[in-house]
Amino acid sequence: MFSKEKRDRLQGYPAILCLIMILLPLGCANPGDDRDLIVIRGHTMGTGYTVKIVNKPRMSQEDIGNAEEGIDSLLRTVNQQMSTYIDSSEISRFNLHRGIGWFSISTELAEIIAQSLEVSEKSGGAFDITVGPLVNLWGFGPSEREADIPGRERIRQVMQRTGYRKVSVRLAPPSVRKENPEVYCDLAAIAKGHGTDRIAGYLDSVGVSDYVIEMGGEIRAKGRNHLNNLWQIGIADPDNGLGIQRVVSLSNTSMATSGDYRNYFEHGGTRYSHIIDPRTGEPVTHKLASVTVIHENCAYADAMATAIIVLGPEDGYELALEENLPALLIVRERDSLIEKVTPSFKRHLESYDYGSNL
Ligand code: ADP
Ligand code: MG
Repeated sequence: MFSKEKRDRLQGYPAILCLIMILLPLGCANPGDDRDLIVIRGHTMGTGYTVKIVNKPRMSQEDIGNAEEGIDSLLRTVNQQMSTYIDSSEISRFNLHRGIGWFSISTELAEIIAQSLEVSEKSGGAFDITVGPLVNLWGFGPSEREADIPGRERIRQVMQRTGYRKVSVRLAPPSVRKENPEVYCDLAAIAKGHGTDRIAGYLDSVGVSDYVIEMGGEIRAKGRNHLNNLWQIGIADPDNGLGIQRVVSLSNTSMATSGDYRNYFEHGGTRYSHIIDPRTGEPVTHKLASVTVIHENCAYADAMATAIIVLGPEDGYELALEENLPALLIVRERDSLIEKVTPSFKRHLESYDYGSNL
C-alpha cells in the first residue's frame, strides 16, 4: 500500500518537508550537529510522512531499524482498517456490505467512527464521513470529472445515501451499522490525523521522548527539538505553497490544517474545493482558504479543521470559540489574505517573528 523511503539523517537545515507544513529548526543560536536528529520518511494514505526523533539517548542502528519497521507495520495496520483504497480493508468491507445489521470491526476503527460522529454532532453535520458518494459525484473520487457540474436533482438523489445519522457505532463489541445499505464511509478527513496519533502512541510505547511527526500536513509534537527548543512549525501561505504564513511553537500537542488550495477545480469563475458541505451536497465555495487547529489529539484536530472549513469564516470561527479551540482561519478577501485567530491560538504564535497586529 505504501512504499517506505530510506531513512536519512538531517543534512543541515532548514528541511522543507511538505507544502503544507514546514518543520523549522528556528531560533538556533547553537546549531546542533546533524547526528542529533533521526529522520524517517515514507508514504501512506496517498501522502508522505516524516518522523523526526531527537537522538538522545543515542539510538543504535538496530534501534533505528526497529523504529522504522515498527512505524511501517503500524501504518499497514491502520490502512488495513481505514483505507477506502484497499478493497479488503475493514472500512471497504463495511462499505461493500449490503446488510443493515451490526458489522464487526476493530476497536480502533470503532473509536475513529465514534469520534467522527461526535465531530458531526458538534458541527451540526458539517463534518460527515458519509459524504463519499458526493465526493465522487463532484469528480474528486476515482472516476473522471464530468464536463458539467452536477444538477440539483442528481445531488438530491445521491444525498439519499448520505447523512451521518445513517451510521451507528458501538464499542463493545466493536461494531458499526448503517440505516441504508448504500451508505459509504470515507475517513479521509480524519485518517491522517489518526495515523499521526498512532505513530505517536508507538513512539511513546518504545520510550522515545522527543519527536515530531508530520503526515500530509498533520503534525504531532512531543518534548523538544534537537536544539532544546520547542518544535517550530510553519503554516503555509495558502496562495504560495512554499511560503510561510505563520510559525507556531508546539510541544505535547497536535496541529492539523485543512485548505481549499491543493485540491479544487474552477468552473464559471468559481473555485470548487474537494471539501463538501454535506448540508447542500455541494463543494465549499466560500472564501475560507485554510483552517489550522491545535489539539492534543491529532484526529480530532484534523476532523475539526475540516468541519470549520465547511462552516466558513463566520460560523466556523464561532464553533472554534465555543469549543475553546486554538484555531487560525485564513480568509481570502479581494486580493489579500485576512487572519482570524482564536484567543487560545495566539499563545502558540511566535511573537518576535512578525509585525503582528494581534
Ligand atoms: P486535506 O487535509 O487533504 O486538506 P481534509 O482533512 O479536510 O483534507 O479531508 C478532505 C477529504 O475528506 C476530502 O477529499 C473528502 O474525501 C473528505 N471530505 C470532503 N468533505 C467532507 C466533509 N464535509 N466531512 C468529512 N469528510 C469530508
Ligand atoms: Mg481533516
